[in-house]
Amino acid sequence: MIRGSCLCGAVRFEISGRPSTFSYCHCSRCRKSEGVFAAVLVGKAAYFRLAQGEEHVRRYVPEAPWTHACAFCDRCGSALGELVTGGVYVVAASALNDDLGVRPTGHLNLSSEPAWYEVDDFKKFGSNYVTPN
Ligand SMILES: [Zn+2]
Ligand SMILES: [Zn+2]
Repeated sequence: MIRGSCLCGAVRFEISGRPSTFSYCHCSRCRKSEGVFAAVLVGKAAYFRLAQGEEHVRRYVPEAPWTHACAFCDRCGSALGELVTGGVYVVAASALNDDLGVRPTGHLNLSSEPAWYEVDDFKKFGSNYVTPN
């Protein structure tokens, strides 16, 4: 069981099992909501449990054609990912308190990264590297 929380601790969650994917997303939405990029965990919704603070979870839902909502704590503003959507959890790894024991395997949406940041770990990711779109 891996625990996570927002900065102020009002929102707490737990993840069990292994995520289906763990990757870095460089899209403009993740950049603006989470920082330079987002470290994103995706797994089966059944393995995610919101343990505390549901009343503090707010969601920014973008207008079409964008599809991914951004959940955050209404007390401290911490980005939490999308949380549960469509049978999966999408969680910001930055909110984890414990080591999940798995590591990111690639980058998504590299074409949206800012000019002042350069990803330089392509060799490390090898064949798992995700081609820029
Ligand atoms: Zn908070
Ligand atoms: Zn993104």
